Amino acid sequence: MENKKLNVWSKQIKDIINTKIDLIHKKDYKFYKIDRLERVAEVIDNLSDNCQVCESFKTEIKTIAETLPELLNGTVNKRAEYEKRNEIIINHLKQNHGFSYKDYFTSFFSFIGFTVGAAIFGSLMWFINKEYLFFGLFVGFAIGLIFGRIVGRKKDKLQEKRQLIF
Ligand SMILES: [Zn+2]
Repeated sequence: MENKKLNVWSKQIKDIINTKIDLIHKKDYKFYKIDRLERVAEVIDNLSDNCQVCESFKTEIKTIAETLPELLNGTVNKRAEYEKRNEIIINHLKQNHGFSYKDYFTSFFSFIGFTVGAAIFGSLMWFINKEYLFFGLFVGFAIGLIFGRIVGRKKDKLQEKRQLIF
């Protein structure tokens, strides 16, 4: 999917962002993940040949890049608007193109793991011996967490390998 393409359009976006960088506070650059916007532009550039929605996001991303200082140095509403517009694009990439945030699956499966683990071992102990209920909950929590982390990390690594990470 990636590679070979010259990414002329996303380079243009990077250039636009670079001309605005001095007008944005350093901490805002980090907080609003402007580097992620550049990465998203790259991804959209690659997908837009085969996806109408991605193609239509090109205009939106260009507008965002051009008005970055106004959005980020503006009112609270403007900042919220920036985040919302970013989110719409990212949600499309997540739902339609299999993208995910870095380490998303590790935290997701860890959570599922300890919840399910504690529930299973907790209820087992409830039936076997209520005195050990907390022990059961604890063991289930720990096992579930470890198991969930392993599964999640595997999936995150795969996402990274496929370059489907923001
Ligand atoms: Zn798309």
